Amino acid sequence: MAKGLKHTAGDTMIIVPLGVASATPTATRHLSSVALWREGDVHLFDCGENAQMRMLQAGLKRSKIENIFISHFDVDHYSGLIGLISTLQLQRRDRDLTIVGPKGIQEFMEWNIQFAKLELGFGINYVEVEEDAESTRVVDEDEYYVEARPLNHTKFCLGYRFQEKDKPGKVDAEKAERLGITEDEQYKALKAGEDVELEDGTVVKSYEIVGHPRPGDSFAYITDTKYCPNSVKLAMNTNILYHEATFSENLADKAAETGHSTSVDAARVANEAQTKLLVISHFSARYTNPFILLREAREKFFPAWLATELRPIFTNPSQEKGIVQAKVYLKEIDDNKSGSSRSGGSRRGNDKGKKNFRKRKSSSGRGRSSDRGSSSRRSRSDQGRKRKERPSRDYNDNRDRREQNDSNQGTSRPPKHITPRTPFDDFDRF
Ligand SMILES: [Zn+2]
Repeated sequence: MAKGLKHTAGDTMIIVPLGVASATPTATRHLSSVALWREGDVHLFDCGENAQMRMLQAGLKRSKIENIFISHFDVDHYSGLIGLISTLQLQRRDRDLTIVGPKGIQEFMEWNIQFAKLELGFGINYVEVEEDAESTRVVDEDEYYVEARPLNHTKFCLGYRFQEKDKPGKVDAEKAERLGITEDEQYKALKAGEDVELEDGTVVKSYEIVGHPRPGDSFAYITDTKYCPNSVKLAMNTNILYHEATFSENLADKAAETGHSTSVDAARVANEAQTKLLVISHFSARYTNPFILLREAREKFFPAWLATELRPIFTNPSQEKGIVQAKVYLKEIDDNKSGSSRSGGSRRGNDKGKKNFRKRKSSSGRGRSSDRGSSSRRSRSDQGRKRKERPSRDYNDNRDRREQNDSNQGTSRPPKHITPRTPFDDFDRF
């Protein structure tokens, strides 16, 4: 794994939300994209603007992208593609890249590549899914496959399931040694299910030292859809279901009208599919506090969590502790440690998570946390006021000065401080 994300041991896939906004980015949320890291490779699901920047910030190498899966052609879900391709070209990529999406993705990409006169040093394999397709295996490798199914949105939209194939059982090395196995070749044969005959004629059976095959990990990506049976099929028994929850239940009408899900819809899919963990994402900009959506989802399906940008989620939670370090200082997260992002890791053990979740609302912890909350709210709103006032005043001042300058000396300077600063301005150095 890249410098920022250190992965030390064991079997797990790592999901890193790169953008959790719906439709339009906000000051703190980026457009839809999520990275799946597995065995050093990265698989991108949707590619909104800034997906490549967010990868850098998460410590994920863009050169490691194997596959890109696009759900549909709402611009916020694929607007980062061309920028990313250009970067890969400048990085002199020579490995092929696979791009999967609804029919038309190839035409779109080829037109853009031609228009920009990009001469790519790598090939792109396009996999297009037709509107009348039911279930399609869009990628099939030795160790995993990816299945796509149409969802129910205002336009043709695909959901995906990334499924590892069953992994071979663990080899009991000590027992193998006791039975007289010494050569690597013999190990390999046993692991592959073959029996091995030793020099003295005794036969070591594969099942004696190889355990049962282990089921592979799985991840479902379901976004921009109303509730539909295909979502449940894709998510069936997954380790992680990443599902959109654009609206809360009191805007169910709006969700139905725009072809989106509420947090309760997401929980319904999770329940019917018996997923291990539901992660909700794709929040409408009207929710400055998406915990409202999480609370609703948890009432119906408890093992649920909010997608938080750059915060990794492991398919195997036992491997989370101490393995991952964000590459950059996350001002947002560190400054709000008492708030939204703090309880990120607490999904292990439902009771524990439940306790944490309720504790923040209990009267004992209330005094301190609400004090802190209100002071941070106050300072934020103060900042907001400053932002609103200062830029316009500065701008006017500068403009006045510039007009003076123009008349006096005939020179002009660009006005300063017009753009409000955001916590993410620090990332400019990348
Ligand atoms: Zn969307």
